[in-house]
Amino acid sequence: MRYISTRGSAPALDFADAMLTGLARDGGLYVPETWPRFSPQEIAALAGLDYAEVAYRVTRPFIGEALESGTYRALVEQTYAVFTHGAVAPLVELAPNHWLMELFHGPTLAFKDYAMQLLGNLFNHVLRARGRRVTIIGATSGDTGSAAIAACRGREAMDIFILFPKGRVSDVQRRQMTTVDDANVHAIAIDGTFDDCQALLKDMFNDHGFRDEVAMSGVNSINWARILGQIVYYFVAAAALGAWDRKIAFAVPTGNFGNIYAGYAARKMGLPISHLVLATNANDILSNLLATGTMRRGAVHASLSPSMDIQVASNFERYLFDLLGGDGARVAQTMAAYQDTGELTLSADALSAARDVFTGFRLDDAGTLEEIARRYDAAGALLDPHSAIGVAAGAAKRFEPSVPMVSLATAHPAKFPDAVEQATGIRPPLPAHLADLMERTERFDVLANDLAAVQGFVRDRLAERQVA
Ligand SMILES: *Cc1c(COP(=O)(O)O)cnc(C)c1O
Repeated sequence: MRYISTRGSAPALDFADAMLTGLARDGGLYVPETWPRFSPQEIAALAGLDYAEVAYRVTRPFIGEALESGTYRALVEQTYAVFTHGAVAPLVELAPNHWLMELFHGPTLAFKDYAMQLLGNLFNHVLRARGRRVTIIGATSGDTGSAAIAACRGREAMDIFILFPKGRVSDVQRRQMTTVDDANVHAIAIDGTFDDCQALLKDMFNDHGFRDEVAMSGVNSINWARILGQIVYYFVAAAALGAWDRKIAFAVPTGNFGNIYAGYAARKMGLPISHLVLATNANDILSNLLATGTMRRGAVHASLSPSMDIQVASNFERYLFDLLGGDGARVAQTMAAYQDTGELTLSADALSAARDVFTGFRLDDAGTLEEIARRYDAAGALLDPHSAIGVAAGAAKRFEPSVPMVSLATAHPAKFPDAVEQATGIRPPLPAHLADLMERTERFDVLANDLAAVQGFVRDRLAERQVA
């Protein structure tokens, strides 16, 4: 299995190299050259298997010859053994044929653990096999950073630097990053927004001198292995709900287009997904694109669902690559124009293709609080604000009652206790393994939104650690 860049001018790589490389050298994102397809029989055969076994079967074709099968199977089993729910990603029925898939039973209580834990184990394995080390640099709107730190902490072959927007992540999110005391973990608060953090990260990737000097690698959702780990639960849900020969729909709280792109990937692989509801908060650049055909960059609004406070959805480029017929040069041109003008307009054909798969939905903070309160009153369910947007979206965009709708619950309510308490009067407690989080000592640095400052900091830290 080979991976090619969405911008068409970086070398094709195998799975292990695409994973270690993260962002392609031409600024593009890696996508598989060809897609495996699962037959209805193969999907039906997943029913009743445990999560790790489904994960192995669904992802194995993407690994190709980069890992031997027995080794890969052991890594997958080890990965999902750390999740705290027996089912790993349990389904709960909210209303007749409307399901909630709980993706918050990992170490940091957000769906990002489901792929990031796999990625941490894969990185560790490949680096050790090659006798190499890397510097992982990531940007986070809150949940990626803690999930990445939990996946990389204490690993000999990696240092990890995480940029987060100062004052724009929740206390729980920040503490999950800043209270980890392993020497290879470096949390950095940037004076700016998440998009600023993401731009700094892209600039560091595109500074090839710096990139080589520190052996930089990335675990943001631009990394193909993240998408890979997220494809799994779409199959798990479909198999559990008997949707191998009839349709199934998903509602996905969306920011960077990573999670929902994995749903689109599952559809390409043969999963009979009728539609994917792209649910946004007031940062509605993507739901607007579906409504109008034009993506227009705007200012980021801080909301109660900060992990979706994004105006530059990096993973959209992977989908654009398909919309533009796999023409890397056109993707490069289109992205360059978007960079300059802040506007990207889809052709009528492309927009209609997008609308065949995706349905937009937007909910502001007031609506989010109402949804949390409504679900608590109706069923005693406590939803975090991101999951509440997904639930509202699933309820609003059910076109056929016979088609199961699965709303993805992307975070545990205790990760965003202020919003949950505001809506319901209940402050959800943290699970036992994080119960003393608020008493742990924090350790982080504050830096200006300035490329040279961040690069200098990374160099200094690595020099102190005597690894570069
Ligand atoms: C990251 C995140 C999202 C958005 O996911 P994308 O893959 O960026 O679209 C939604 N909800 C929560 C809780 C998250 O952590």
